[in-house]
Amino acid sequence: MKANINPQLEPLCVPLASLHEDQRNAKKHTPKNLTRIKRSLRKFGMQKPIVVVKCRCHLLAGEHAFILAGNGTYRCAKQLGWDRLPRVEFEDAARARAYALADNRSSEGGGWNKDVLEELLAELDEQLPDFDPGDVGFEDLFDSKDDPGKALGALTYSVIADFDNETDQAQLLTELEARGLRCRLLIA
Ligand SMILES: [Zn+2]
Repeated sequence: MKANINPQLEPLCVPLASLHEDQRNAKKHTPKNLTRIKRSLRKFGMQKPIVVVKCRCHLLAGEHAFILAGNGTYRCAKQLGWDRLPRVEFEDAARARAYALADNRSSEGGGWNKDVLEELLAELDEQLPDFDPGDVGFEDLFDSKDDPGKALGALTYSVIADFDNETDQAQLLTELEARGLRCRLLIA
């Protein structure tokens, strides 16, 4: 398979060799994140284009572009041996840079509606003979496909408190740990 791309996106395709990653991508991809992208690409193919901006650097010869949104997708497609990707071009370079941040930032956060999620996963399990929760990124939740409800209990529930300074943060941490709670410090 050279690529698995929704036929409607074919007119937007360019060779993988004419693209490179954003050298100033502020967003990191975890190995788990990349595994999920790769699994989704393999299973569902490309269903939306990546976003690129024309580039004149010396990383690649000739006309090429770098990726604003879809760096992880590009990396995974490359590993899967794909030869092309569908893309749309962002014209204004400065705005494009801002858009890349907005795209990453806006995909953060947000939780899951546990009831709806549970319902959907159970439904898909019935409707699709080859359904595997891992294909949609929920591999951790399911030790056994027989009991999705129980598996969803594996979700963790967190409380995040914001502080203006490190001292207050450390103090609450001490208090909570004294109560036997599992805590993690975040500095954002
Ligand atoms: Zn370049």
